Amino acid sequence: MPAKLIEGKPIAAQVRAEVARGVQAFLASTGRQPGLATVLVGDDPGSAVYVGAKQRACAEVGMAAFDKRLPANTPFTQLAELLEELNGDDAVSGVLLQLPVPDHLDGPTLTGMIDVAKDVDGLTPANAGLLALGRPGLRPCTPSGVIELLASIGIEGDRIEGAEAVVVGRSNLFGKPMAQLLLEANATVTICHSRTRDLPGVCARADILIAAVGRPRILTREFVKPGAVVIDVGVNRLTPEEAGTKSGLVGDVDFAAVAEVASAITPVPGGVGPMTIAMLLRNTLMAARRQAGIEDD
Ligand code: NAP
Repeated sequence: MPAKLIEGKPIAAQVRAEVARGVQAFLASTGRQPGLATVLVGDDPGSAVYVGAKQRACAEVGMAAFDKRLPANTPFTQLAELLEELNGDDAVSGVLLQLPVPDHLDGPTLTGMIDVAKDVDGLTPANAGLLALGRPGLRPCTPSGVIELLASIGIEGDRIEGAEAVVVGRSNLFGKPMAQLLLEANATVTICHSRTRDLPGVCARADILIAAVGRPRILTREFVKPGAVVIDVGVNRLTPEEAGTKSGLVGDVDFAAVAEVASAITPVPGGVGPMTIAMLLRNTLMAARRQAGIEDD
């Protein structure tokens, strides 16, 4: 495999260690812990695993964690009241509503109720707007994690400026903010989606190719320019037999074939995945510092 493997775990560990030091400094200067409140509605096992991991990660870096769990039939008004209460609670620096919420609730409207200063997922319309305008705000975690992975192999500053970046996927959660972060870093950015004509041809122009589609191994070798950096955000669950791996998890990129032509590539699992919680912790510390009137580093 000629491509360099970009492993997320050690990079996420560095971010977490840096956050843990920041938490100690925050505690020393304010006498308070930064705190993250997670809100989980319903009993979806996958969401419960994610929330549990976020809670543990807070404890590991010395942050306070507030674990709010509500039954699946919770009415909108009760949830809105809880978010309002967390917005007003000084011990809570960041508020995260675990998505998706049950069908009778309107996830985007509820997310939009989170105070912009506490929106550590960076998904409120206000933070999305600040990103679009290139103004300071809280940035979505997974796209920020990708920027960190690129920087870890030296793709930053001059190396990202003017580069052809192609993002496949235009979700509000990932694709759009990813494209905007790349634009902020002065890449030349193209966003692809299900209506893109000649997806392989557009992808093959990319110096930096980022896949967030949710279709197993859709990006094959012919989508990739030799020497491109390939970041695979997709997480798809197949049977171990279909996947040919123990976990059955595969990305959107045909890893084995693409690793033969790319210069660097992220694996699935173990590439982008570990970065999301690390960036959530960084955002929570940043939110706490800003609320305390401490300037960003
Ligand atoms: P999403 O909301 O379903 O968006 C998927 C995007 O892919 C859409 O923009 C869709 O286009 C596009 N698409 C679908 N089929 C396509 C095709 N055949 N050719 C080109 N584009 C196509 O998904 P998401 O939330 O962005 O997530 C995408 C993947 O990333 C999922 O596997 C998810 O699990 C993973 N993910 C991982 C992390 C993490 O590791 N922490 C975080 C976020 C997401 P249209 O807009 O035209 O429908």
